[in-house]
Amino acid sequence: MKRTLIAEIGTNEAILTVCGWVQDIRILKNLSFLVLRDESGVCQVTVKNLEKPFDVASLNRESVILVDGMLVPQSQSKTGKEILASRITLLNAAKVPLPLAPFDKVQADLDTRLNNRFLDLRNPRISSIFRLKSSILWGIRNFLMQNGFVEVQTPKIVASATEGGANLFNVKYFEDEAYLSQSPQLYKEILISAGVGRVFEVGPAFRAEKHNTVIHLNEFTSVDIEMAFADAEDAMRMLEGVVDSAIQNILEANRKELEILGIDLKRQPLPYPRVEFSECLKILGDAGIKHDPEEDLTPEDLRVIAGRYSGFYFITKWPASVRPFYTMPDHENPEFTNSFDLQYQEKEITSGAQRVHDPAMLRSRFASKGLNPEDFDFYLKAFEYGMPPHSGWGLGLERLAMILLGLKNIRECAIFPRDRTRLKP
Ligand code: ATP
Ligand code: MN
Repeated sequence: MKRTLIAEIGTNEAILTVCGWVQDIRILKNLSFLVLRDESGVCQVTVKNLEKPFDVASLNRESVILVDGMLVPQSQSKTGKEILASRITLLNAAKVPLPLAPFDKVQADLDTRLNNRFLDLRNPRISSIFRLKSSILWGIRNFLMQNGFVEVQTPKIVASATEGGANLFNVKYFEDEAYLSQSPQLYKEILISAGVGRVFEVGPAFRAEKHNTVIHLNEFTSVDIEMAFADAEDAMRMLEGVVDSAIQNILEANRKELEILGIDLKRQPLPYPRVEFSECLKILGDAGIKHDPEEDLTPEDLRVIAGRYSGFYFITKWPASVRPFYTMPDHENPEFTNSFDLQYQEKEITSGAQRVHDPAMLRSRFASKGLNPEDFDFYLKAFEYGMPPHSGWGLGLERLAMILLGLKNIRECAIFPRDRTRLKP
């Protein structure tokens, strides 16, 4: 169909066709005004003398119409863009009442919005989130491609757990039992043995977490990298570059969306601060909080630690007891590991580490985590014939988006979120 995008009105023809949704209708005596919206913006349609009669009074909001008309130069309308209609064609009517009015002053509750996501997304405040998320991912991809990474796709139906068995979704795989992948970890590492050097993947990760929080989804987008001949510090530097590139990209490409959402985003100077886990225990001790050195930091602990840092920072050298089997122990202090999390205030965005590359060490790590090495035979095999030292990380894209865009609930950053109770739409 030949049409002019609303954003481009006034830049070319004087006689034009615009298509979109009827956002507002105002009927006066001999004259009516419509606010018409497409993906690029809104304009006013003035209806006075049509070539073919059209009953504006019968038009419902959010119906889809086509308008042929003439550009009104120097329009006084609120939108600054105006078309004097010569012909209006109803392409598809919207039913009344709308299950969600996307332009109501008072925003509907999140559940109603998610149940009617197609209407929710008609508001540019909401669709901007996903334009920005897309741009964040573009910034990440661009940076990784420039740094010699190759993008791969690994299977999401898998035979064994990577992060332990507790939060796996089962699937029936013909006569076998299989799972939905929690993380591409094992495959990324096998590809390091295969000699790819630097590899990344952007794909879904599934976690059967029963708790309902504002930072957890049951299906999220994981950005994963793995690098050969690299230590934890190399992986952290790559991560800073990725986050900074994502921020830079939206600052350059998405001024309009940032403005719509009222986001004042700034780059944070590199390098991001690094704080060791043992130092975190001291910070907690100073705050009068006792912490078992073998246990993970709780959300409350992280809030206290975040009091010391205003933005992004790394927590490094986590205890082996709280990290997965593939995490490289610190060779001076083997209860600790060459691992890191990237945090933004109290929220975790990324976990990463240098990985174990010695198959004998890997076997003993399986044992210490109560895992059966036989379940990982295909993985272990790749370590027996020349596996380089390597490091990498996994970053939750929705978590990063939520933080950069200052949103309070991760569900805002998943276009059709999956949570404990939501399986539709
Ligand atoms: P958390 O402790 O916050 O539950 P995790 O340590 O279990 O996260 P990892 O296995 O380290 O998560 O996964 C790497 C990254 O993937 C996390 O830092 C986070 O950004 C993201 N992530 C993990 N689980 C989820 C989830 N359920 N929903 C959204 N993002 C997630
Ligand atoms: Mn983690």
